[in-house]
Amino acid sequence: SFLSLSLSLSLLSCHFILISLSPLSSSLAGSWWPVLEELPQHNIPVYRFTQYRGEVVFINPGTIHWVQANGVCNNIAWNTGPPTAHQFRMAWERYQWNKLQKVRSIVPMVHLTWNMARRIRLNDSHFYWQVRSLLESSLAQTNLLVSHLKKAGIPILWHGRLAGESAPYCNDCAEEVFNVLFVLSHRGEYLVYCHRCASSMRKTFTVLQQYDIEELKDILAMFSLHLPET
Ligand SMILES: [Zn+2]
Repeated sequence: SFLSLSLSLSLLSCHFILISLSPLSSSLAGSWWPVLEELPQHNIPVYRFTQYRGEVVFINPGTIHWVQANGVCNNIAWNTGPPTAHQFRMAWERYQWNKLQKVRSIVPMVHLTWNMARRIRLNDSHFYWQVRSLLESSLAQTNLLVSHLKKAGIPILWHGRLAGESAPYCNDCAEEVFNVLFVLSHRGEYLVYCHRCASSMRKTFTVLQQYDIEELKDILAMFSLHLPET
């Protein structure tokens, strides 16, 4: 769901195939190669071209693509996420689609969005409100869960977060887990679960909290729209 940049450093060339369609569940994990003849039969637009040495190919979010080397070839690809409303919406849609398909998202969108609120000044009001509504719902959900656990007398241990620590994902449903982690120790390993999966497992979990709710409220309060001066 991110923009992709591919640079060919090869002496020979690479073969590019691009198709634009909503992600198929089979395209979310593993690798597969399309049967090209089938695509036009289903009215799926296909662009096929050769990338030569030194050429850069710029691919929009949501475009499924394959690259095949025509010989000895060095090819570098970057996934980039320019901070724009369009990119954010595409990334969020893909993140939700991954959840439905029980596929782990490469980008932990909730953690990313809180980091954006801390570090980026936005001057596009559409983009700002997209980010803000996501933060508000994330805060409401985590606040509700923490209050619910406290009311139920379930102890929550403070865990915090180390700088550069990667975002946790649920060991069962593969969803990103934000703030409240349900942890099981298994053969010396710590396995993280989300609240929903943990509730259905009838096991005794250690519950850890990574963010202070007041700190999240402060981040949201400080997150404002910076309209350019006219
Ligand atoms: Zn889960």
